[in-house]
Amino acid sequence: MIDIHALTSGNSRALAKAITLVESKKLEHRSQAQELLEAVLPQTGNSIRIGITGIPGVGKSTFIEAFGLYLVSQGKRVAVLAVDPSSPIAGGSILGDKTRMELLSRSNDAFIRPSPSEGSLGGVALKTRETMLLCEAAGYDVILVETVGVGQSEYEVASMVDFFMVLMLPNAGDELQGIKKGIIELADALVINKADGESINLAEQTRRHYQNALHLLRHNSFWTPQVMSCSALKQENIEAVWGMISGFQIDATKNGSLSEKRARQAREWMSKLLHEMLDMKLKEHPQVKAEMPLLNQKVTNGETTPFLAAQRLIELLFSDKKET
Ligand code: GDP
Repeated sequence: MIDIHALTSGNSRALAKAITLVESKKLEHRSQAQELLEAVLPQTGNSIRIGITGIPGVGKSTFIEAFGLYLVSQGKRVAVLAVDPSSPIAGGSILGDKTRMELLSRSNDAFIRPSPSEGSLGGVALKTRETMLLCEAAGYDVILVETVGVGQSEYEVASMVDFFMVLMLPNAGDELQGIKKGIIELADALVINKADGESINLAEQTRRHYQNALHLLRHNSFWTPQVMSCSALKQENIEAVWGMISGFQIDATKNGSLSEKRARQAREWMSKLLHEMLDMKLKEHPQVKAEMPLLNQKVTNGETTPFLAAQRLIELLFSDKKET
């Protein structure tokens, strides 16, 4: 059993145990995990949740180490989580790996957790959301959620954080640097990393390029996305990045948009889970399973309409519930 008191007083071993419970695929662990999450819910929500994405090599782990160490020096407790859809089967993950953030991982005020290797219902993203709540209950002030800037996971990360940041390389010519345009549109900030040495001028050019490009985007929030540059390696301008995010946090708290955003995210997440649960029930239902091939065949042959076939499956799904 998880010691809730130890967890909420910031004991990192209790936190690690709680996360293991949340990540477990065993059915009985699933209900225990949900009970635990419900019990700690009142102690959650007190952090700023920051999503960080960018292509491999842009400097995510170097940045997170520098940023995390800066925050710790400011008296903050920092948790680093990862959503890595491409986790190798070996159970390891390329993100959130402790060896990549050696100094930060040695700090008592930092907690680094690699990406869950897989998640069933709700996927890896659900585990990360739940882990985020546990970290908040354990008193972490800043949660950094890292993801690789390729594929679907950035959308999932953007929909679980308060502030979404895209790290970029100093390279104004190379239009979107392999990052999809849709991702840029989700960004609350673009941060051009590696603004050091010979790249300083190019970084400034890149910054201006994106500053102009972002003006073209429409935003329906009070926040205008910012473009900044920094050097994670030289630890330059890291403080300014935090200044921007804490400014956002203060304003978004004051004007209510932070709580609005979180409530919207929670509702959207509930709806997504509901659909996934229904889908699972459909797949597991014996009569649905039995009739599905026949209905597929009938729809293929034009013997029945897709509408009627779908309706029949829904009726089967709910028919046994009505009798009880
Ligand atoms: P990730 O794949 O996005 O996590 O990138 P890493 O943090 O592993 O960095 C990739 C490479 O870029 C490493 O060799 C880093 O030392 C280097 N790097 C990271 N940040 C900077 C920076 O600010 N300036 C310079 N010059 N190199 C950097």
